[in-house]
Amino acid sequence: MSSPAKPLVYIISAPSGSGKSTLVNELLKKVSDLEFSISYTTRAPRGSEKDGRQYYFVSRPEFEKMIREGEFLEHAEVFGNYYGTARRFLREAEQNGRDLLLDIDVQGAAQIQQKLSDATSIFILPPDRKTLEERLRKRSEDSDEVIARRLDAATREIENYHRYNYILINDQLEDSIRLLRAVVRGERLLRAGRALSDEEAKTVALGDCCRLANIRDRVKRILDSFKPAGDAGGGESSG
Ligand code: 5GP
Repeated sequence: MSSPAKPLVYIISAPSGSGKSTLVNELLKKVSDLEFSISYTTRAPRGSEKDGRQYYFVSRPEFEKMIREGEFLEHAEVFGNYYGTARRFLREAEQNGRDLLLDIDVQGAAQIQQKLSDATSIFILPPDRKTLEERLRKRSEDSDEVIARRLDAATREIENYHRYNYILINDQLEDSIRLLRAVVRGERLLRAGRALSDEEAKTVALGDCCRLANIRDRVKRILDSFKPAGDAGGGESSG
């Protein structure tokens, strides 16, 4: 019997407030055979979150036991809580012949990239700092202090953009969904090892619009908007 094909692994990272959850949910509705990896976390459930849906909510001792027993493909501490991706999701995706989508932070993404060098990584950027700040204020009851902390964290996370294969600037939701879908489908097509139809080639070309090399100037303007006034316009690493 032939062994099942290796699943493609897609990593999505973004600073909080950049619209990642909405994009991920829409993507999962629109792309078949793509499984969401439900992470383990020690943070408390928020609002309508349910155990086993958005996350598996566990205690710190339970999480630490899982670390000791080598159950995680990656794990990290984010905003004072543990988050981790269980290895079993990769095995299950493989058995089910499905690809796997990981919504993880930049530390987790770096660990996955080391272990699974052919994973596809996507970084979602807000159009600029002001828009991110407005989105953070609109969506939550967070205090000014928490919002300031999230903006600081966003500034640090964004500096890792060059470690990702694709950059998606989330400006208009419908456009972003179309681009994200093209990136995911495009990667599948590129790895299919066969000639592509015109329609398929168009999908690959649309996804290519998000490759860093193709949107470097726009990304640079966004990064500049996160720098303190007077500090913008500095050199960008060639990454
Ligand atoms: P939140 O608590 O707002 O749902 O998520 C906070 C951050 O943790 C987000 O950046 C999210 O991508 C990240 N995160 C969620 N699950 C994992 C995980 O399994 N591993 C890592 N490294 N980060 C995660």
